Amino acid sequence: MSVRVVARIRPLLEKELDKDVIVRADSAEEGKPLTIVKIPSPKNEAEEFSFTFNSVYDQSTTQEELFTAEVAPHMKALFQGLDVTLFAYGVTGTGKTHTMRGGLKLAERGVIPRLLSNVFRRAKKITKDTGGDTTVKVALAYYEIYNDKVFDLMEPPEKRTPSGLPLREKDGKTIVVGLSERSCEDLKDFERLYIEANNNRVTASTKLNAHSSRSHAILRVKVTQTTGDMIRESTASAIDLAGSEDNRRTDNGKERLVESAAINKSLFVLGQCIEAISRGDRRIPYRESKMTRILSLGQNNGITVMILNLAPMRSYHLDTLSSLNVSSRAKRI
Ligand code: ADP
Ligand code: MG
Repeated sequence: MSVRVVARIRPLLEKELDKDVIVRADSAEEGKPLTIVKIPSPKNEAEEFSFTFNSVYDQSTTQEELFTAEVAPHMKALFQGLDVTLFAYGVTGTGKTHTMRGGLKLAERGVIPRLLSNVFRRAKKITKDTGGDTTVKVALAYYEIYNDKVFDLMEPPEKRTPSGLPLREKDGKTIVVGLSERSCEDLKDFERLYIEANNNRVTASTKLNAHSSRSHAILRVKVTQTTGDMIRESTASAIDLAGSEDNRRTDNGKERLVESAAINKSLFVLGQCIEAISRGDRRIPYRESKMTRILSLGQNNGITVMILNLAPMRSYHLDTLSSLNVSSRAKRI
């Protein structure tokens, strides 16, 4: 079981160019790779806090570079039967969706479309190399967890029940009862399903007068390799987490506070699980929240990568600091 915790600092956007930048990437020694994030103390500007990660990516990092460094190396393991789980953690506006989904242009595509592209390429190669003896099937599930309830994003919002989909235990695993799974033949197929599901997500949150940044979106890619009567199954999960900002500071009303409580709890448990995995604990508190329970986080020989997204501006100071605190505790490997 392995975990990597990395940070990615996004660049200033066009409209932010006049903003004060307070977050920077550094290396432990000159010439060494970036592993440290530095940020001033909010109380005393002269004091600087440092947080260490497995790796730090600065504003110049491209989508391709991030994928090549943090995801591509695990694709072989996925096809060997290991599960791969990728999280984007951070305050709203720091680049989680950019990292996971990315833009439409090829160069701007995020981790998810690149992962699918890699999976399909490998699948084709395996079928070819085995002369068709091994077949590879790819199936997608896409759901969100909002207020601790699970909703299927492959289904239109009209089909949702207020209580969400129930969970059930089966062979020691937690399954989401009624969650749809769509088989997916190629990248085109994937894009069609993914766009439709993301539209469902936006429509549903608008109906609830919520925002999609208030829910966790979880894409599950199941890879099934069949050779005769031997079946090997593994999953890659990519999670665009709800924003980690502290909503107690802003007056958001009762509904937002209920949302915040659910988000805080699930992000707290996630942090605890990552920490336990990195320490090599045998007991991982993955049952303490719905998301980590469904993911069976740390329950098999899998690989977990947590990407902490950071915005460099002073306006994010306190939220940035608290997100660094949560994930730096998780960074010790
Ligand atoms: P989040 O999902 O965490 O709320 P977004 O992914 O929506 O944040 O990012 C906020 C804004 O910053 C978007 O306009 C996005 O395109 C932009 N952005 C984020 N990361 C980068 C990056 N690495 N390079 C360029 N633009 C980025
Ligand atoms: Mg987002």
